[in-house]
Amino acid sequence: MKKELEKLILLQKGDIEIAEFERALGGIPGQIDAARSGMEEKKRQLDQALAAMEDGKVRRRKLEQEAQAEADHMAKVKTKLPAVKTNKEYSALLAEIDAIKEKVSGIEDQELELMESLESEEREIPTFQAAFKEEESAFKEYEAKKNAEAERVRQQLEDARARREGLVETLDAKWVNSYDKVFRAREGQAVVPLKDNICQGCFQHILPQMVIDIKIGEKVFQCQHCSRFLYWPEESPETALPK
Ligand SMILES: [Zn+2]
Repeated sequence: MKKELEKLILLQKGDIEIAEFERALGGIPGQIDAARSGMEEKKRQLDQALAAMEDGKVRRRKLEQEAQAEADHMAKVKTKLPAVKTNKEYSALLAEIDAIKEKVSGIEDQELELMESLESEEREIPTFQAAFKEEESAFKEYEAKKNAEAERVRQQLEDARARREGLVETLDAKWVNSYDKVFRAREGQAVVPLKDNICQGCFQHILPQMVIDIKIGEKVFQCQHCSRFLYWPEESPETALPK
């Protein structure tokens, strides 16, 4: 019977490991996603800078078209000058020419401003590109590391499950069923030691006769309060059985 208890303790140790492997494995995709979002942020900054530059180029082309339209307008007005007959007509044409000049000057100012901002935007692009490349290669390295870790943990989990199956085969099914129920209900604590006649799972007193029986260790006992399996601490077989 002591052997049964030793096996139940091993079963619990293995199940705690299995739970840890599952948790570790389950956390990896989220860790990769979090790292990816850092890289995506740098990509967004680069894309924004490129888009701002493209936008600036479109605006520049539009200003060039406007400037050309004003130049055409000016040429057309000037062809009218030789045919002018009255002072009034002459003044009107001069006013029109002045208005065109003012518009052209306004367009030129905007072009100048735009060229300056385009130049400074263009200078910043390599910085954004470098930041993105750096983040991208760091992410790829991290992702590869995490994928390798996942593969390793998956293998460990598989091994631990196989060990569990082997162990379960050697145990009485009624103990395994009872153990499984308690393990689930008591969040991974199904086999606990006795200390000063107190169950170390629920911290309630155990009947003196049962304490004696547990110490003798010929049978398997469960705490009458919390149903956990009880063992006498000296008999804790942490290394008693090979894995
Ligand atoms: Zn108890």
